Amino acid sequence: MTPGRPPPRPAPEPAPTADQATEDAMSNATTVSPAHSASTASTLITNIAALVTNDPSLGWGSPRSSKFESGGGSPLGLIQDAAVVIEGDHVVWTGDQSKAPATDNRVDAGGRAVLPGFVDSHSHLVFAGDRTQEFNARMSGRAYSAGGIRTTVAATRAATDAELEAGLTRYLAEALRQGTTTFETKSGYGLTVEDEARALRIAAAHTDEVTYLGAHIVSPDYPDDPAGYVSLVTGEMLDACAPYARWIDVFCEKGAFDGDQARAILMAGKAKGLHPRIHANQLSYGPGVQLAVELDAASADHCTHLTAEDVDALANSRTVATLLPGAEFSTRAEWPNARRLLDAGVTVALSTDCNPGSSFTSSVPFCIALAVRDMRMTPDEAVWSATAGGAAALRREDIGRLTPGACADLILLDAPSHVHLAYRPGVPLVSGVWRRGTRVA
Ligand SMILES: [Zn+2]
Repeated sequence: MTPGRPPPRPAPEPAPTADQATEDAMSNATTVSPAHSASTASTLITNIAALVTNDPSLGWGSPRSSKFESGGGSPLGLIQDAAVVIEGDHVVWTGDQSKAPATDNRVDAGGRAVLPGFVDSHSHLVFAGDRTQEFNARMSGRAYSAGGIRTTVAATRAATDAELEAGLTRYLAEALRQGTTTFETKSGYGLTVEDEARALRIAAAHTDEVTYLGAHIVSPDYPDDPAGYVSLVTGEMLDACAPYARWIDVFCEKGAFDGDQARAILMAGKAKGLHPRIHANQLSYGPGVQLAVELDAASADHCTHLTAEDVDALANSRTVATLLPGAEFSTRAEWPNARRLLDAGVTVALSTDCNPGSSFTSSVPFCIALAVRDMRMTPDEAVWSATAGGAAALRREDIGRLTPGACADLILLDAPSHVHLAYRPGVPLVSGVWRRGTRVA
């Protein structure tokens, strides 16, 4: 929980779309009583081949478990032949299915895997326009730079509120179908007081994890006056945006904001009760990670170009390194060295960075597959980072795990194990999603 900020409200439940209703009807899981139970009735989900709890004291890998030898020290707290009981919007019990308590309703998982809903702690979903041509050109050999953001700024400013919200809702529904039950999203494509505030107002209607990113790039309205733009971002724009946001972010990068500017922006946000997170060390070495640690940012995001000192600083801090392999994939850039971070003891989160320029994917399963194949994370590490790691990057303890007291955010995979998320890349394995206790997909 962020010091000095009220605890997040439960996010509003989106109405199921026609698509979701169809998917629900097509799901293979057997539901013995009403599937859409938003009441406080209890529901047992049983016949789970492998349950990811993210409580390492449980299941395989736990010294308390008879399966410790074969489990191999997984952080996932895996339980075989498991069951979960949810009541209202919370998990109330997890364990061996033979010991499950009596409940009002029962769902047969059919020998499939169940894991916590994905926590996508980094996305940019309030935007308009399209950058297909830029992607196409880049895949034909042109390099990525921060300047392409201006294209989306122009389109976003020209869009109506309804168009921006329709886009956001569409990408959220897309993400939900792929198992994302909590998401963070940012402003950063308005870059005027009014356009930044409206982006955050629209985002805040759909999530509590809203980030003010007026400092995405220097506004094109201030071509020769970056200091003037920093004054706007830390003054009038911050005043207009702070009521809608929990977080403040800055793109600390050559061509965007340097270390001193980033520090001034994040300090101003902190003074208004916003907590920092940083786009750090994405395209080049720089001061972003050290600044993140200095300011106790919840997360330093990207972390592609790190010195040994940067890795040490992260390992000795509460700041999570959020890796965004969709960006490296979509820009044909060098992968972040996840193995180096994990081996140093850094907490790693995995997120989509969904945005129209450098990573236009809403799929956490795709990012898990990339992390395993190309960033040398084990399947267990990648799944942990996309669930519990994302929760840590948002300083949340109520999500990213399936243990009593956690939010009832669950994914049913059409596979016997979470490993299939990497083993079967590109396959839509998420066959059921519960969000805050309600079956939504
Ligand atoms: Zn980003």
